[in-house]
Amino acid sequence: MNVQVGDILEMKKPHPCSSKTFEVLRVGMDFKIKCQGCGREVMAARSKIEKNIKKINGVSPYKMQAQEKQKLGSD
Ligand SMILES: [Zn+2]
Repeated sequence: MNVQVGDILEMKKPHPCSSKTFEVLRVGMDFKIKCQGCGREVMAARSKIEKNIKKINGVSPYKMQAQEKQKLGSD
């Protein structure tokens, strides 16, 4: 599964605050993700998170802005 920093993950199991979407802050052996409902940051093993992903919802607005900047700058 190709998870990148900035992606919004839709999980099978919701956070205790009932939100199911998390923003990816860091990837590696462990993932660091941020709940979009309450803003809490969670760290967990990659395998554990990947198993719980229902859908990857592309990138956050922040990342899209960064990509736009790169496009403009590379010309
Ligand atoms: Zn939450």
